[in-house]
Amino acid sequence: MARIVMKFGGTSVANLERIRHVADLVAAEAKAGHEVAVVVSAMSGETNKLVALVDDLDRDRVDGRNDTLGGSIDDEYDTIVSSGEQVTSGLLAIALRRRGVRARSWLGWQIALKTDMAHGKARIDAIENPELSASVGDGNVAVVAGFQGITEKGRISTLGRGGSDTSAVALAVALKADRCDIYTDVDGIYTTDPRIVPEARRLNRIAFEEMLELASLGAKVLQVRSVEMAMNHKLPIRVLTSFAEAGADNPGTLVCEEDAMMEERVVSGVAYSRDEAQITILRLEDKPGMVAKVCKTMSDANVIVDMIVQSISKAESAANLTFTVGKRDLEKAQSALEAVKDEIGFEGITSDSNVTKVSIVGIGMRSHTGVAQTMFEALAERGINVEVIATSEIKISVLINAEYTELAVRALHSAFELEVA
Ligand code: ASP
Ligand code: MG
Repeated sequence: MARIVMKFGGTSVANLERIRHVADLVAAEAKAGHEVAVVVSAMSGETNKLVALVDDLDRDRVDGRNDTLGGSIDDEYDTIVSSGEQVTSGLLAIALRRRGVRARSWLGWQIALKTDMAHGKARIDAIENPELSASVGDGNVAVVAGFQGITEKGRISTLGRGGSDTSAVALAVALKADRCDIYTDVDGIYTTDPRIVPEARRLNRIAFEEMLELASLGAKVLQVRSVEMAMNHKLPIRVLTSFAEAGADNPGTLVCEEDAMMEERVVSGVAYSRDEAQITILRLEDKPGMVAKVCKTMSDANVIVDMIVQSISKAESAANLTFTVGKRDLEKAQSALEAVKDEIGFEGITSDSNVTKVSIVGIGMRSHTGVAQTMFEALAERGINVEVIATSEIKISVLINAEYTELAVRALHSAFELEVA
């Protein structure tokens, strides 16, 4: 007998038919004698609808015109957007009872998933209700509404988009579960996006660190925070499909601590993100403190800066500084920079939002040489120009013209022979 947390995302509970199927999957585990807690997302599309309602009511905030009148509305935003999960937790509890399984719904405040006050992107402090674990231990299935928690002031909070993954991992840690199974609409983590490379393969296992990079680099299967939390607690996560029949062969991908086999693999995956924009600051004076000033301007404007390169012309003692920001932040970043142009002292800025970041990830890079060479040769052979490069111990990312995205992903997938098991 094991203690299992099962998490189902939006497409897995998209309608009553899907919820009945999920109930079959959960009932099979419960009837096999396991102790089960389930975490559900809202029906797919539901959270987007709720967010749109808030945004429509509060256009001025969305357009950045009026942030002060009446103060923040983030607490009420959370009250509204968390409601989709309340519905699916109740529906699934009913479907389970109809299958003869003892089950009840639990909302974020009832399991006492305590968070900080950062409404809209709250961080979890603790899960505190001892009754939850006792109830699961007595053979009741706990159906927990994901994505939501409660602040010390007793207000509802949410964990950021995709946050139900993090709810599930936190619950698994709190309940000392043996496993956290994350059911989704794909049957595991792939070497790359199969829509671009049909030969992409499902990985049987992937290291926490690799998954963390892939999730940060644009693979949207797991929320980044959930991987961080699982890694910190050494809690293995299995990613698998909810579209298989109960009892069918459905191994998924195990996200776990690295082992020798994973290290032999040079590259585990190729990720890409179209959510990038590039900014170049022209003729920034080449002296200490200039890059710091630019970065401060960005952080004051709440813009996250990702890849950075500086090219210096010694003759002119000036530098061009290129960096990337999220596409959504481009306008904000540009106007913040324009505002300090004379104060910091540079000639001008240019920008390009027609760019993609393509990355290779693998813990094997630590011990293999020639990885960068293989990557850049593969891109060069296809005539793909690299604009910006960023590396870490286990990844290399390049910024390229968006038109070459598919070509680059395919070239890298085959250069590292990822289609071969
Ligand atoms: N329903 C929330 C969202 O769409 C949380 C989740 O599904 O993980 O972001
Ligand atoms: Mg998700």
